[in-house]
Amino acid sequence: MTTRQANPIRQLSTSLINKIAAGEVIERPASVVKELLENSVDAGATQIEVALEQGGTELIRVTDNGQGIPQDQLELAVTSHATSKISEADDLFQVGTFGFRGEALASIAEVSQMLLRSRTADQPSGFELRINGGHHEPMEPVGAPVGTTIEVRQLFYNTPVRRKFLRTPQTEKGHIGEAFTRVALAYPQVAMTLINNGKTLQQLPATPSWSERISAFFGPEIADGLIPVSSQNGEVTISGFVVDPSVTRSNNQMQYLFLNNRYIRDRSLQHALRESYRGLIMTGRFPICFLRLNMPFELVDVNVHPAKLEVRFQNSGQLYSQLLSVVRNKFLTTDLTARAQLSQPSVATAPAPAPQAVPRNPDAQHQIPFASQQPTTDWTAPPPASSQVRPHDFAATGPGDSRRRYEMPVDPWSPLPTTASTPPESKAKPPANAASPPPQRSTALQVHNTYLITESDEGMVVIDQHALHERIIYEQLREKVLAGKLECQRLLVPEPVTLPPADAAAVLEQSELLERMGIVVESFGGDTVLVSAYPAMLANHNPAEMLRGVVEKLKSPSTHVDRRDLVDELLHMISCKAAVKAGDQLTPEEITALLEHRELCQDAHHCPHGRPTALVFSRQELDRRFKRI
Ligand code: ADP
Ligand code: MG
Repeated sequence: MTTRQANPIRQLSTSLINKIAAGEVIERPASVVKELLENSVDAGATQIEVALEQGGTELIRVTDNGQGIPQDQLELAVTSHATSKISEADDLFQVGTFGFRGEALASIAEVSQMLLRSRTADQPSGFELRINGGHHEPMEPVGAPVGTTIEVRQLFYNTPVRRKFLRTPQTEKGHIGEAFTRVALAYPQVAMTLINNGKTLQQLPATPSWSERISAFFGPEIADGLIPVSSQNGEVTISGFVVDPSVTRSNNQMQYLFLNNRYIRDRSLQHALRESYRGLIMTGRFPICFLRLNMPFELVDVNVHPAKLEVRFQNSGQLYSQLLSVVRNKFLTTDLTARAQLSQPSVATAPAPAPQAVPRNPDAQHQIPFASQQPTTDWTAPPPASSQVRPHDFAATGPGDSRRRYEMPVDPWSPLPTTASTPPESKAKPPANAASPPPQRSTALQVHNTYLITESDEGMVVIDQHALHERIIYEQLREKVLAGKLECQRLLVPEPVTLPPADAAAVLEQSELLERMGIVVESFGGDTVLVSAYPAMLANHNPAEMLRGVVEKLKSPSTHVDRRDLVDELLHMISCKAAVKAGDQLTPEEITALLEHRELCQDAHHCPHGRPTALVFSRQELDRRFKRI
């Protein structure tokens, strides 16, 4: 019988401790960028440049003009638990800087090839320190301007498992873009540049105006919708902008909260925000905000999360109410009606001028009245509620014609054969009842601009116009995608669409697949994606809006499992957008066309989401109800 000997307890090596710490703080290149940027800001830099090679997987170089690190402290700066930011335990609760754990540089140096070059104002020259996988080389003097440059090459080169987990340079670049955005939004007064593979992605001049910095990132769609809010409750202030309820997102990524200039995420505050928009936006949509919370350091514990992303407020209940009431009150005292109409499109059938986002000067106290200038080149703003209020845009004279920027008007119905001019090849696919004479042309009565009532041999049929049209388009699209010949509409002028960095990366990563669906995208630098073609059926839709729909599908976790699921999801989305809506008044011709295609279409009884497209009230049932039998 053998007795198992317990392993002796040993002190871990510093190197191993640092590797473990690196695992906590440094997850991917974006974490390095976050830590380095925060250090630069802490050092009082007014100019910061981030240069990447291959989305940071090969190289990350952050250069700042901050105070620099004195020669005699250079070695110390990359030693774990060395920090200039706290010395006493009490300080832990009073930190006004980003740093204070003193482990970022040591961790990064442990898992990369690092170069640290720095010079303070009172030193005649700079000094340079190289560290390979935690191994320090001798320090050397070097000519350098005042400030600090840190280069991180080959992140995770000595922890191959981690290196393997890196995604494509494109994806990593997207994450870095988000990290860069968070710091750049917190510090508009710092000039910041982001470069990848020698290409400048962002060049942000220093500005005292927060809205200007926000606009530089998110374009006019957001800039025009900024609504200033501010509130003070004792020592706690909330200030910044919420965004017009007509502009929303499918997740809460665009809720930027900064606590004492530090980006944070907080479930309770996200909830307060959602509550304040209740009734103004649809369920499943999320408001956008840029808010700064400022409070004395002792009212918050920031030391509860390794990346300091989450914090603990001493009085979170009060903060919740403060946020809720400042936004609510703002909405109550401003032109809320205009906004409510925006988020609840009317079902008017006349091509009345659709409500536009209210342009407002976010830095001014008063909002510019409704009738002020109309942006004409505003490509991120949706066209006049095109997807929702488009009573007849399959007809040649749709209300959108005057703003149409495409080569030719495209009729979503046109690919469908009609009885009048059935193309020969569509005969190859016989209708379900091929043996019987052609289906008798019964028209239908449209009720509530939503349902079509018609008859069959069996009885009375009530059809959901949107569900049926959606199914018809879906079948058509699927056949074409499978055959590889989906018509796409080339845009005369490709349309740039600005997305959050991670979204842009996700879109570009799937560009091949999207192209099969007729959506042609390419990178336009920064977080802007250029749409040069998209499905002909969506010709009347705004490319920005369509692309956001695509992003939602790409990001939904359920569709990542299987490529076919993703294709299917995208087809659903396209057909849903292209189909007539409940509330659209149809012409007799349109009704007839819809009924005819119903005869030809597979699975016409259910829409692609599984809802029925029609209900049948049998003749017998009607007779029985009316006491005829
Ligand atoms: P922390 O930021 O938590 O203190 P770090 O490992 O990130 O820990 O940095 C260690 C120390 O190195 C900092 O406290 C600071 O004194 C110094 N340091 C790091 N980066 C810079 C920089 N860009 N400019 C000036 N000093 C820096
Ligand atoms: Mg730090």
